[in-house]
Amino acid sequence: MPEANLNLPGASLQKTCTCVVLLCALHISVMVLYYFNTFDMIRNSFAQNQQQQSHDSLLIIPPSEAPPRNREIITTDREIKSIQITVQPTKDNELEMCPERSPMLVGPLRIEFSQLVSLDLVKSENPALKEGGRYTPKDCKAQQKVAIIIPFRNREEHLKFWLYYLHPILQRQQLDYGVYVINQDGEETFNRAKLLNIGYAEALKEYDYECFVFSDVDLIPMDDRNIYKCYSQPRHLAVSMDKFGFRLPYNQYFGGVSSLSKEQFLKINGFPNNYWGWGGEDDDIYNRLASRGMSISRPDGVIGKCRMIRHDRDQKNDPNPQRFDRIAHTRETMNIDGINSLTYEVVKKERNSLFTKITVNVGVPKR
Ligand code: BGC
Repeated sequence: MPEANLNLPGASLQKTCTCVVLLCALHISVMVLYYFNTFDMIRNSFAQNQQQQSHDSLLIIPPSEAPPRNREIITTDREIKSIQITVQPTKDNELEMCPERSPMLVGPLRIEFSQLVSLDLVKSENPALKEGGRYTPKDCKAQQKVAIIIPFRNREEHLKFWLYYLHPILQRQQLDYGVYVINQDGEETFNRAKLLNIGYAEALKEYDYECFVFSDVDLIPMDDRNIYKCYSQPRHLAVSMDKFGFRLPYNQYFGGVSSLSKEQFLKINGFPNNYWGWGGEDDDIYNRLASRGMSISRPDGVIGKCRMIRHDRDQKNDPNPQRFDRIAHTRETMNIDGINSLTYEVVKKERNSLFTKITVNVGVPKR
């Protein structure tokens, strides 16, 4: 018993020490386990974060700006490997077609000419235009590629109004379009229809247009539902002009603004080249269409309203005294006078952000 008493404090101390050591070991193990666990979590969360970031940036890149490499399947490190991100194809020709009716149209417009506009103002209001007065909708594939052809000479102020009003309208109409101002060089008598033929030929050198809108520089539509595109029949767009009391001057009238598809244009051998001076060429075009069995399509009288910018008669554009005789013979002349007999010379081609101006030598009338 005394022996037992002597050993008691030593044994108890030993037990206590063993306990403390075991507790310390347990604590250290728990700490080590906890440490590794936390490290792993941090690593995982970092990887997830990285993956989220790359996913987010793919989502916000607009289709047109996405670099090609983003179109590939992306697999990165261990954590991301299981998630393969495929970015949808973003090339223009894979965009969806624009709707039949643009959702951006607003209907009737207030058109007035009391305050002059500057080209700088028009430029600043149309930032989406590309060089040469080109525009392509960003979010959808346009229904038609349209060349707008404007016969021109010395009407700078009118052209500014035209650009000011028409560019926003054409963009709302979601057209893939370009504006071509065909400027007759020199002082010879004006030849509107020949300038239109030249516009057709020159525009096709620039782009694969399928529709041609021929517009006088002084005519502005009063409703953006009057779509400047082509239809199954040739279209007369300036059907309800203020100048004529908002009605057609006569049923066969095809002047001011009209549109023809490439096919329709070629079917009538384009327009006549030998109407010098004012009048008759639009009646000749009507005769050509009628003789090829086509009819005229038109918007209704409300949507087709348009304003003409008032002006004095141009110099060197007096009424053509030969027009009545010529109109009477369209059927005989149209096969030999038209796009198949067109000759001209390009004097100058200028591109700015609002339009392409092509100055041309159209020759002189046959005396
Ligand atoms: C002329 C056309 C003109 C129309 C309306 C006709 O007499 O031949 O060229 O567009 O009048 O002014």
